[in-house]
Amino acid sequence: MSALFRKPLFAIVLSLVVLAVGVFAFFVVHKQAPEILPTKTIEAPKNLGRKHEVIGKSVEGRTVDAYTYGTGKTRLVFVGGMHGGYEWNSVLLAYAFMDYVDKNPAVVSDNLSVTVIPSLNPDAVYKVVGKEGRFVAATVSTDTKLLASARFNAHGVDLNRNFNCNWKPTSMWQSKIVSGGSAAFSEPEAKALQSFVSENNPDAFVFWHSQANGVYASKCQKSILPETLDVMNAYSRASGYPAVKTFDAYETTGAADDWLSSINIPAITVELRTHKSIEWERNLAGIKALLLYYGQKKEKGPKAFYSK
Ligand SMILES: [Zn+2]
Repeated sequence: MSALFRKPLFAIVLSLVVLAVGVFAFFVVHKQAPEILPTKTIEAPKNLGRKHEVIGKSVEGRTVDAYTYGTGKTRLVFVGGMHGGYEWNSVLLAYAFMDYVDKNPAVVSDNLSVTVIPSLNPDAVYKVVGKEGRFVAATVSTDTKLLASARFNAHGVDLNRNFNCNWKPTSMWQSKIVSGGSAAFSEPEAKALQSFVSENNPDAFVFWHSQANGVYASKCQKSILPETLDVMNAYSRASGYPAVKTFDAYETTGAADDWLSSINIPAITVELRTHKSIEWERNLAGIKALLLYYGQKKEKGPKAFYSK
């Protein structure tokens, strides 16, 4: 190559370099300079603590609260206190779980959101505790008649007969006839759960009750969802509560877990062995089994599509 050729080439390269530096300098001065650097620490993507929402109000105007941990796309929901003061230990179990996640946030893996609705029937808890908010076992009434009446909401409706699966105005609780309400979702507490489901499209539900000592699958007319069986078996194996595929001790209509099954959401009912304590270690083992199952599970369906 001749020297004549080399000089213009060098000039062109040099001009391009100068131009590039000029353009870069222009953007540094005109684009970046006016920006204000963040003065606060940028929040970590997970373990931000719990998010509190009021998802509805009871007949007597008490809040139905939901607490969510994590921001993952797969949402698990744990519900206590469907049967209020009669099953007050299911409410305390839900609070114990919240305290546990507060201290051990890493238990909720990145792909998960965990919502706890500790007290779905707060008026009925108030009836046996005599105060609002969190309580301790020692303050619960021991009057058995009062406790049994505190199974229902303030309209006298059995909330677990008020959901939209084979709903009937009257239903059974053991050998007793109970009210299922004037229509499916006639009760504000059931409606609160319905709205929460339609807004959040959760992936699985656990309802804590007492005291039948078992983990029950759910279904509504169609067969049990395969994932419901997985969830039932995982919780049962870890906790030691016997797995029960079909509840056939008496006819139940309008149950919340069966309604969820009808809209293809896996749901189980965990019945503690007594009305007295939260049976913490075995329930924690059951909860951890589900967190592991869903923590390792791949996203499915439209959720996975929209996340891409
Ligand atoms: Zn119950």
